[in-house]
Amino acid sequence: MKSVKAVRFGYKPTQETRELLSTFRMMVNHAINIALEEKIKGRLRLRDRIYKEFNERYSAVTCYPYSVAEVAWSIVKKHRRWHRKPVAEGLMLKMDSASYSLNYGILSLPNRKGQRLLIPLKYGDWQRSFLMDASLKRGSVTMTEFTIVIAFSREAKEIEPVRKIGYDLNHKSVVGSDGTRIVLSKVARLHTEYGVRRSEFYERHSNDRRLKQKFSGSRRERERIKQTLNVISKQVVEKALRNREAIVLERLKGIRKAHMKGNGMGRGSRRRANLWPFRLLQQQISNKAAWAGVQVEFVDPRNTSKECSRCHYINKKLKVTERSWLCPECGCQLDRDLNAAVNIERRGKIPCLPMVQAGARGMDEAVKGNEAMTAPILLAEAPKLGNSGRSR
Ligand SMILES: [Zn+2]
Repeated sequence: MKSVKAVRFGYKPTQETRELLSTFRMMVNHAINIALEEKIKGRLRLRDRIYKEFNERYSAVTCYPYSVAEVAWSIVKKHRRWHRKPVAEGLMLKMDSASYSLNYGILSLPNRKGQRLLIPLKYGDWQRSFLMDASLKRGSVTMTEFTIVIAFSREAKEIEPVRKIGYDLNHKSVVGSDGTRIVLSKVARLHTEYGVRRSEFYERHSNDRRLKQKFSGSRRERERIKQTLNVISKQVVEKALRNREAIVLERLKGIRKAHMKGNGMGRGSRRRANLWPFRLLQQQISNKAAWAGVQVEFVDPRNTSKECSRCHYINKKLKVTERSWLCPECGCQLDRDLNAAVNIERRGKIPCLPMVQAGARGMDEAVKGNEAMTAPILLAEAPKLGNSGRSR
């Protein structure tokens, strides 16, 4: 199983790096225009078309037209959906692994013919571990005004799990079917609420460039939320690695039924955007898991919190506000999130090694998990994972 990790480095921008970046942007925009004017279909055709001309015109080394075509084509493709004239706005440069070299923390990029630009990377211990690890393969380099991202890849050996753990992700906590509970603090919830409002704004005005620019100052905030989610996803994956667990999550897809009219929630909370922190968390969990060789499965999210994890009765009338599950059919009582997590786990189909009982875990164990929740892990900096009440 090949797994890729993008590692971010800092660097000191110089006149030369800025020039290189703006030349690259100029080339990308030039390539975009050619693609549109000549109705070129496909990245490779675009590359063949610009290759010779660009090498002469920009006195660029051969590798540039390749990446220019790649970046330009991805912009053209994206904008076809947006019905707006495509243009590369930000300063960005991409280079494949064959074109650059990296030794002793110094990145060497081809600049003009016969010249190379040497850029010392800034890094901490975490980034250093990637530079030092000879077993990792280096992929593309993406350079922006202040950062350089290098893709590292490895062949991760998939771990055969001895059990599955389902996780219910909601706006207050992350609850595992084994009773693991990561509680998100109030302070942090507020921060995300802000982030969510903002992301709703983005969705609504994604075509308005002026407004978008005005509101793009939230980078720090989003970065903060990302970091908090990073802590959570790390905990989930490290636990899985330690205990040889497979992770089962709900498949989040577009607008869910629960977010539609008539569920007692406001209009704002039904927006598709309110899934974004969940999506990010899912992404982080699956990325980290893939890197570690931990298996992740996404299952059908329908009725996971309305179904009884013991008798499978479905209580359609369950309200968002009810925090505990009381089954009208078999009378079983359980924390709402834990009930959902057990349902999620059950829907998982990843085969587990038979030595430990997985899958068919009964109520006893679930209730035991419930007790474990009296001592939850509290993440002081953890944000709320959505706005007012994610339900299903
Ligand atoms: Zn029941």
